[in-house]
Amino acid sequence: MILDKIIVASSNKGKISEIKAIFHEAEIIPMSELGFDEEIEETGETFKENAKIKAYAIAEKYSLPALADDSGLCVEALGGAPGVYSARFSGEGDAGNRKLLLKRMEHITKRRAYFESAVCLCMPDGRTYFGEGRTYGRILQEEIGENGFGYDCLFYSDDLKKSFGAASEDEKNSVSHRYRALTDLMKKI
Ligand code: IMP
Repeated sequence: MILDKIIVASSNKGKISEIKAIFHEAEIIPMSELGFDEEIEETGETFKENAKIKAYAIAEKYSLPALADDSGLCVEALGGAPGVYSARFSGEGDAGNRKLLLKRMEHITKRRAYFESAVCLCMPDGRTYFGEGRTYGRILQEEIGENGFGYDCLFYSDDLKKSFGAASEDEKNSVSHRYRALTDLMKKI
């Protein structure tokens, strides 16, 4: 399928720039550029369900293909938390989320974790395609690096052998959960 225009159902600048770098043949239009600033409620219990809710809402409104990602950090010792609640973990934004995660992990030595992403491409006629990806690593004892967003500076990547916060955008994109989910999606469309 050839796609020349895709609306990205996200207003997260970090995610949009990663999607643009990966999906470089298509014109990527962030939904904010179309004046869409309503919050789409993420009522799903899985990343896949939430990605579909977001992509469907935008494709229906603009009659254009819409791509949405839902992603988060899953920490094994916390039973997979914060998971789908990653963005809302502390209720106080990215810095508050990182602080809370460090607090919850204070006495925990087993620090295995992964980022997971589900992407959904929804066509105006209702057809939907999914892709899923993970990237593995562990939670650091303190923040390292200032690149990226969200939990990046607390995540030591097994693939890169460094924190995502200390990685360049290209390095992170080459192993990220979103890259893997988008690659998985591309195989299916
Ligand atoms: P979403 O917008 O509901 O998908 O929320 C995803 C949340 O998970 C973000 O706000 C971040 O806290 C976290 N997250 C997802 N992907 C990444 C990433 O690549 N790096 C760091 N944090 C991420």
